[in-house]
Amino acid sequence: MDLSKILEYQKRDSEIFKLERQLNNNENKKIYTQMISVVKDAQNQSAALEAQAGQIIASYENLKKSYLDNSKSTGAVAGKNIDSLSVEELSAMENVTQTILNNLSILEKKLLGEAEKVRTVLQEFENAKKRYNLARDKYNSHKQAFDEESKSIQPQIDEKNKELKSLENGIDPSLLAKYKQKRLERIYPVFVPCTDKTCGGCRMELPSASLSILKKDGILECEHCRRIIYSQD
Ligand SMILES: [Zn+2]
Repeated sequence: MDLSKILEYQKRDSEIFKLERQLNNNENKKIYTQMISVVKDAQNQSAALEAQAGQIIASYENLKKSYLDNSKSTGAVAGKNIDSLSVEELSAMENVTQTILNNLSILEKKLLGEAEKVRTVLQEFENAKKRYNLARDKYNSHKQAFDEESKSIQPQIDEKNKELKSLENGIDPSLLAKYKQKRLERIYPVFVPCTDKTCGGCRMELPSASLSILKKDGILECEHCRRIIYSQD
């Protein structure tokens, strides 16, 4: 199997790989990528808080309704002419009044509890908003810095890719397809020699079964690093 052309192609590709790595390892890119997830987290938290606020408001409205109903009942009891009531009726009325007052006191406490919950949610909402704004600003400034830096690198990559493309014609299509697939997975170099019965990429020793396949086919995919090993014989 003649690999000279694909190996020449790979050699030319190394400069592109280096430039791509330079872009990918860019500090600004790392930061702005991190900020995307911070912004998403803040958005998710805001949505969760909004749902929580909705529940608290519904529960507050229910409590308020009970409070008003109980208040109305005290009005009805108070409106009765006490002079016309018997002792039993008076005592029953006193019980009713006491029950209503107890209810009102419980409801008041619950309402205060709900108000406190609302305050907490609003505070958390405010914090989430602050985090969102900070992350968004950080994203913008680092994205801008990255774009500025990539302006000088990207044209070089494009130019070299054009040169590389012109080499494709003479290469065995199946080898080229394999190469491109591995390259997409950010594997470089794709083709490595077999040296001393080991993979030239990861130095893993090849079992004798693999060595015989290599001898027969001329190439073999490394089970460990997934590079294409070629025989140097
Ligand atoms: Zn390997």
